[in-house]
Amino acid sequence: MNLKEKEKKLKEISQKISSCRRCPLYKTATYAVPGEGNLEAEIMFIGEAPGFFEDKKGRPFVGQAGKLLDSLLQLIKAERKDVWIGNLLKHRPPGNRDPKPEEIEACSIWIDKQIEILNPKIIVALGRFSTAKFIPFGKISRIHGQKFKIEFKGRKIDLFPMYHPAAGLRNREILNRLKEDFKKLGEFLLINNH
Ligand code: URA
Repeated sequence: MNLKEKEKKLKEISQKISSCRRCPLYKTATYAVPGEGNLEAEIMFIGEAPGFFEDKKGRPFVGQAGKLLDSLLQLIKAERKDVWIGNLLKHRPPGNRDPKPEEIEACSIWIDKQIEILNPKIIVALGRFSTAKFIPFGKISRIHGQKFKIEFKGRKIDLFPMYHPAAGLRNREILNRLKEDFKKLGEFLLINNH
């Protein structure tokens, strides 16, 4: 698919996400947060769900966790314009509660389509919910920072599960793990000429 086609398809999906009624979260949300970034990116970052500021702006990772993500991206010599960033859920769960299984299920058609169109080489799953999409029984504390070869709808993708940046804001140990994991990702990119 060429860039123009990708752009068109993703725009259509973003519009559909904005009027999505597949679960009740739209009722309490301000804006849907479809995700954004470089459509030719080799890396897709998939977080959990919009938080307070993301909900107000309709953009992913614009709060404190987003600031941390920006600084972690520097460890792989990247900026937002180089990657694509989105979430498992497109509408904010009230009070930032955990996503419910039925919400994840209802919303999955959107991230699945986005993955299909963006066709990334690498997915960085941020946090346990995003990781569980690809590795259902993987414990994030055990598998973070490792590379998994997965097959998603017939495509081979390198998956890197990592702790969620919000967890890094709450816990210094986790912050250190996140930094180490991003450095490992950077080494992988270098070795594999990404
Ligand atoms: N946390 C997430 O998982 N996603 C965001 O967009 C912001 C915070």
